[in-house]
Amino acid sequence: MPDALAGCSMADMANLEQLEQAWQVLETTYTEPVIPVTYINSTAAVKAFVGNHDGVIVTSSNAETILKRVFDKHQRVLFLPDQHLGRNTAYQLGIPLEQMAVWHPKLNRLEAEGDLQNLKVILWQGRCCVHQQYTVEQIATLRSQISDLKVIVHPECPIEVVQASDSYGSTKKIIDEVAASPEGTKWAIGTDNNLVNRMIQTFPNHDIRSINASAFSCITMNRIRLAHLLWTLEEIEQGSTIQQITVDEATQISSLKALDRMLAK
Ligand code: SF4
Repeated sequence: MPDALAGCSMADMANLEQLEQAWQVLETTYTEPVIPVTYINSTAAVKAFVGNHDGVIVTSSNAETILKRVFDKHQRVLFLPDQHLGRNTAYQLGIPLEQMAVWHPKLNRLEAEGDLQNLKVILWQGRCCVHQQYTVEQIATLRSQISDLKVIVHPECPIEVVQASDSYGSTKKIIDEVAASPEGTKWAIGTDNNLVNRMIQTFPNHDIRSINASAFSCITMNRIRLAHLLWTLEEIEQGSTIQQITVDEATQISSLKALDRMLAK
């Protein structure tokens, strides 16, 4: 790890102890199995728990496909750690918001009214600090200033922002959709500004801007700089592995089950 402090603040919003506590409550609340579904941005320990409880990993590219597959066989999921990816994906699959509720890991309780048996998706109260910086108001302001503007955002944005956009999708989908649009298309993009700035350079014949140009980029992810990477590689070349990440065998085996379920056809 070129910088030991690099990471994902969203992944840190779900730890194994919290998940085990949540599970105890869900097991006593529901008689049918709840399937845990974890975003790839989660710790190895969380993935291992998910693997050991018939659960599966998703990415932002395949979340819809995998969640649909889970709902073909089961009636309820716990989606973690990103509530927004879970909510946006489930909503896209036709599950109404009334059948979703948020699990508060710090309070160890479900924020829900009415009959808990009606819930289909329990959303972990995690979020990406970067994607919280894009708002419906920013989109409205840009649309009032720029005619024929197309807006695309990442599904880690809140659902109101996704609904105010023309389309949404993973980083790959955002890049592909912009690349496939005619030259001169006016775009406003809601995802990490490092990517938006790279796209402005990569597609000079498109008119690209961020929905919020002053939004900060991911602080933890961006700790890894070229100098750190070079230092790490030079050390490896000289036979010394610094800041090596290791995962114990039991965690490897269990988390691989969740990954294999994702990759299964
Ligand atoms: S932008 Fe940063 S905090 Fe958000 S999901 Fe990516 S790595 Fe995590």
